[in-house]
Amino acid sequence: MTQFHAKITGRDQAAMTDIVRKYKVLVARHTVEKVPHGYRVDAHATDEQIRALTADGYTVERLEDAHAAGKARQEEFLAHAAGAAAATLSVAKSAGYLSVDDVEKGLAAAAAAPYADFAKLVQLPSQTWEKRACHALKLGKGGGERVGIYFLGGVHAREWGSPDILLHFVQLLSDAYLHQRDITLGQKTFTAAQIKSIVDTKDIYVFPQANPDGRDYSMRHEAMWRKNRRPAPQGHTASNCVGVDVNRNYDFLWNFPKFFDPAAPVQNSTNPCDHDVYIGPEATSEPETRNAVWMLDEFANIRYFVDLHSYSEDILYNWGDDLDQSEDPSMNFQNPAYDGKRGIANDKAYREYIRADDKTKAVALANTMRDAIKAVRGRVYKTEQALSLYPTAGTSDDYAFSRHIVDPTKPKVFSYTIEWGSPDNPTPFHPPYPEMKRIIDEITCALLAFCVAAE
Ligand SMILES: [Zn+2]
Repeated sequence: MTQFHAKITGRDQAAMTDIVRKYKVLVARHTVEKVPHGYRVDAHATDEQIRALTADGYTVERLEDAHAAGKARQEEFLAHAAGAAAATLSVAKSAGYLSVDDVEKGLAAAAAAPYADFAKLVQLPSQTWEKRACHALKLGKGGGERVGIYFLGGVHAREWGSPDILLHFVQLLSDAYLHQRDITLGQKTFTAAQIKSIVDTKDIYVFPQANPDGRDYSMRHEAMWRKNRRPAPQGHTASNCVGVDVNRNYDFLWNFPKFFDPAAPVQNSTNPCDHDVYIGPEATSEPETRNAVWMLDEFANIRYFVDLHSYSEDILYNWGDDLDQSEDPSMNFQNPAYDGKRGIANDKAYREYIRADDKTKAVALANTMRDAIKAVRGRVYKTEQALSLYPTAGTSDDYAFSRHIVDPTKPKVFSYTIEWGSPDNPTPFHPPYPEMKRIIDEITCALLAFCVAAE
């Protein structure tokens, strides 16, 4: 399926909600921009969708053919993967995206000598549909009360760079700890004492490549692939009918037709043949989702969670299903009185409850990451609530934060999604590697600053 990167302008808010609700276009950029003749979003749309939008009065600026442009990235990746440079497993020295196997090898190396004293490989319990084993890494040394911080990546197949970011983070932090060195990224320096304090007093859990089947498929076959590789349902032969969107499969308002206002522009689908956002046959049905959740269950000291995605240069905090409010605790995702009313951004029929002090803390930590990113080369990410005009359901960040509300015996986990990379990059889901390297430094800087600040 050919998708074009496009900027779509509509005349008012209602027209903008229709882009998702009626035309089923995937709005990649979270932000709706105000422009002189209305509002504009960054999106990926098929030829057919662009024709329908144009016929109905939208202005569509068609950018690159994502499929054709993605082929160029695939060729670069394959040429790199075949070369000797890939064998180093060092992201800093790599000239191209790491393959799925190399990410796994890099993780294993990060837990071996001389790092074994403070790094442990963690095998995830579920094999993927294509029978791959997944691993995470636990960094930390010493006992006592320790705060756990959990970084996840590689959930969406086409967002190739998140595993590279997380492996680089591990390699940089581990080497600096081992050799008692500072880390400097652009204008920001983390002192050796800060690095030592992270590893000696906190547990850092890194699960960099949650959907290896999808990532491999995107790198070698269809660059715009987003879902995992669950086999298509019986009787469905189209290639689109493979896979589930893992970041729509978590147990938070998963069954969105029941919970949301029918007019809400939720970017989710119950159709197994939806190219991008099929939610799966039930919540947490996917091995990739179960693995991501298992980390939260297994490591009860986790208090913070960051899920890496691309693109749009946003740092998103809870909630994603509706606008936040701190006045009425009974107006919340568990209350059936509000079923069918959620997800309309600009009304007051429903807003999601978050304690005022939690919100203050959530925003402060988001700003810490924003400032760290800016220090690398001046790019200013936007920190904002995960809901803009378009609500989400079944996503990791809302699921992770909702756990302590559903079950008060579980800890509160402050949760974020980072959408790295600019919409102005070519193939923004997986930009050319020289640009990706700069993004790797930016996000690594954000994650280090997060580890220092999160108490
Ligand atoms: Zn994503």
